[in-house]
Amino acid sequence: MVARVTLEIAVGQEFDYLIPAELLNQVFVGSRVKVPFGRREVMGCVTGLSETSTHRNLRSLSGVVGKQSLVTSKVLALTRWIAGYYCCPPEIALKSVLPEVVRREKEGWREQLFVRVVPGAGALPKLTSRQREVWNILEEEREILLQSLLAKAGTTAETVRRLENRGLVSIGPARVERDPYAHEEILPSSPLQLNAEQASALEQIRTALDSPKQGAEKAVFLLHGVTGSGKTEVYLQAIAHALDQGRGAIVLVPEISLTPQTVERFKARFSTGPKATLVAVLHSHLSAGERHDEWHKIRQGRARIAIGARSALFAPVDPLGLIIVDEEHEPSYKQEEAPRYHARDVAVVRGAMEGAAVVLGSATPSLESYYNAKHGKYRLLELKARVDHQRLPVVRIIDMRAESRKQKGPPVFSQLLHEAILQRLERREQVMLFLNRRGFSTSLQCPKCGYVAGCPNCSVTLTYHRKRQVIACHICGFQAPAPAECPESGCRNPAIRYSGLGTEKVEDALARTYPKARVRRMDSDVLQRKEDYRTILGDFRTGKIDILVGTQMIAKGLHFPNVTLVGIIHADLSLHQPDFRAGERTFQLLTQVAGRAGRGDIEGEVLVQAFTPFHPAIQYARRHDFLSFYEQETEFREQLSYPPSARVALLILKGRNEEKVKFCSEHLRKEIEGRTGAIRDLILAGPSPAPLMRAETFYRYHLMLRTRQMLKLSGILGTLRSEWNPPDDVQWTIDIDPVNLS
Ligand code: ADP
Ligand code: ZN
Repeated sequence: MVARVTLEIAVGQEFDYLIPAELLNQVFVGSRVKVPFGRREVMGCVTGLSETSTHRNLRSLSGVVGKQSLVTSKVLALTRWIAGYYCCPPEIALKSVLPEVVRREKEGWREQLFVRVVPGAGALPKLTSRQREVWNILEEEREILLQSLLAKAGTTAETVRRLENRGLVSIGPARVERDPYAHEEILPSSPLQLNAEQASALEQIRTALDSPKQGAEKAVFLLHGVTGSGKTEVYLQAIAHALDQGRGAIVLVPEISLTPQTVERFKARFSTGPKATLVAVLHSHLSAGERHDEWHKIRQGRARIAIGARSALFAPVDPLGLIIVDEEHEPSYKQEEAPRYHARDVAVVRGAMEGAAVVLGSATPSLESYYNAKHGKYRLLELKARVDHQRLPVVRIIDMRAESRKQKGPPVFSQLLHEAILQRLERREQVMLFLNRRGFSTSLQCPKCGYVAGCPNCSVTLTYHRKRQVIACHICGFQAPAPAECPESGCRNPAIRYSGLGTEKVEDALARTYPKARVRRMDSDVLQRKEDYRTILGDFRTGKIDILVGTQMIAKGLHFPNVTLVGIIHADLSLHQPDFRAGERTFQLLTQVAGRAGRGDIEGEVLVQAFTPFHPAIQYARRHDFLSFYEQETEFREQLSYPPSARVALLILKGRNEEKVKFCSEHLRKEIEGRTGAIRDLILAGPSPAPLMRAETFYRYHLMLRTRQMLKLSGILGTLRSEWNPPDDVQWTIDIDPVNLS
C-alpha cells in the first residue's frame, strides 16, 4: 500500500511513501505520520491511499503519530478544493484547517509540556533581555506549548527553566481538560415561541435538514433580518433540529462579536438540561491549551456544536448538519494571508460536500449573497420586523459643509449633535459616538514650507497620538516623537498644524465640552490587554460611562438598552476609498451603527455628520432601505463588471526596487494574456501602482482580473503560480475574490 503525504514543510507538492506491513492497519486518510525526507525526518499528513504509485524507489513511512486521524476525509476534500480555487499549495491549505497547537502535536493529547504564568507572582524581578522576551510572550498568551514558545522566542528551554526557578512560570504536562468558560455560570434557556416570520424561516430550514440530498444549492439560505429581528433564535432552533437528527453544527461569528454573551446564548440552550451536549469554542483569544482541548472535544464527538471565528469553519464536526454564518457580510471572514479563503464562500462549499444546510445571516447582506438569493442560487428568508415591534431609530443626516461655513472649519460636533448630547446627559441616558479612525490628528503639516509628515516606509501620512506624544504609521508601526516645530532644516516653523480627526481628539473634545460627563474611548490604542474590552463594555452596561466613543469595535452586535443616541462623527470616511465596495461598506456601517440605538423602551435617535450628505449609501441607510441600495449599487457594479455580476482576482507584486516590480508586472500581464484566450469575458486591468503604493518599504503593483468564469481562471492562475517565477527580490500573491483592495 502507498500513502500520499502532504509534508509539514513548504515544498509545494505531495509525496508517496510505502506503508510498512506493521503499520498497515494504523494508517488512514488524515493520519499524522513521520516520514524520511532527504536526510531528515519530517511530519506530514496522509491525504490519500492507493495500491500503486507512479513513482519508483519509494521510501517507507517511519511512524504514525496518535491513534486518531486528525483530519477527516471530508475536511481533507475541502482542503483540496481550497488549494485549487484559491491557488495555494496543499500544505498551506492544510495549515489553516488544523489549529497550530493540534498540528504541531508530536506525542498526542495531554502529554505535552505547557508553560504557564504563575498567578500573582508579584513584582517582576530584573530579567535578562532573553528572559524578558520570553516573559512578554507569556504575558500575552498566559499559557503556551513549550515548543511554540521556544520557536516564537528563538531561545532554548534553559531560558524558560530560569524563569521557572524564579517562580514566575510553571512548566508541566497539561493534565486537566481546560474549559475556557468554566468560570461562567450559565442559566439554561428554552426555545421561545416564534413569531410568524421566524416560524416560516425555521420551517424552511428544517425541511432542508430533513431532506439533505435535495440538491446542495437548495440548502443554502440567506436570512435577511434587521438587528433585533430574532435571527439568533432561528439559528438556535435550527441547530436543535440538526441535533435531534444526530448531526452537529458549526456557528461562525466575526471575531469581534465573539463575546462571552454570544457564546453564553448557545451554551445556555444546549449545554444544560437532560439532552446537554458540549459547545466547543474556537478563537484566537484562547490559550494554546484551551484551543487544543476544545478542538479535540469536537474531534472525539463529545462536542457537537462548534462556535468560533473564521477558522472554526474547519472544525471536525461529523456528521455535520448545519453551518451558520452570522453577519455574513463581514470582511473579516476573508483571510488576508495564504490560503486567502473566504469563510462564507467555503461554508457553502463545505455544506454542499457534506449534505449540510447553510444559513447566512445579516441585517445588511453582502451584495454577493443577496444577488445569489435573487438569482435562485440561495433561498431568501426575511425577518422584516423587530421582535419587540420597536421601530427602527430615526436617522438624521447633518450637512457638515454648512456647519463648516458657520464657523472657521468643521467643528467636531455639529450644533444638532451637541444639543442632542446635552439632552441625553440631562436625562441620564447613554450616548455612543463613532468614528472609524484612531489617533488624535491624521496629518501634520507645515503651512509655511508645505512639509507633510509621511512614513519613511509607506506611502501614508503619520497620525498624531497626543497622549503618547508620537506620530505613528498605522501600516507598519513606525513611530517618532511628535515634533514641536517643522523638522525641515531651512524652515523650523513653530506653527506646524495638526489636521484631520481621530477618536482621541473626539474624546478630548468631549472632555472639554462636557466636563461632568464620564467619557471612555474604545479603540485598539486603548485596549492593551484582553480584559480591557470586557471591562469597558461592562462599565458601559452598568452605567458607569455616559459617553462611549470608539472605532468600528463599538459598531457591532452590542446591545445596550439605555443608549438612546448614536452619533456618527464623519460618515464619509469610508466612502472615499479607492475600492468598489466603498459605498457598500458605508451603507453597512451606518446601518449597523444605527442598530445600536433605542433597543430599550425609549426610541433611539441617530445623527450622522457627513460632508457628502446626498450620497446614495448615506441616504438609503437613513431610510433603512436595503433593497433600493442593492438595486442601484448592483447596477453600477454590473456596468463595470465588478462583483456580484462578475468575480475578481487580484495579483499583487511587491519588491524594494520599483522599476523591477513594474517590469515584472508587465511581464506577468503578458504571461496571463498568453494563457487566458479561452476566457472570453476576461477583463485584465493594470499593472498599476496599488492604492497603497508603498508599504513596509515595499513598492506594490496590482493587476486586476475580472470574469464570470472564476473556476476556470483560478485553475489557470494556479498553474501559473507553479510555472512562473519572478526574480528573488519580487514577491507575488494571488488573491481570488479579494476583499481588501489596498
Ligand atoms: P438578532 O439576532 O436578529 O439581532 P436576536 O435573536 O438577538 O435578534 O433577538 C433579539 C431579542 O429578542 C433577544 O433578546 C431574543 O431573546 C428576543 N427574541 C427573539 N425571538 C423572540 C420571540 N419569538 N419572542 C420573544 N422574544 C424573542
Ligand atoms: Zn509605515
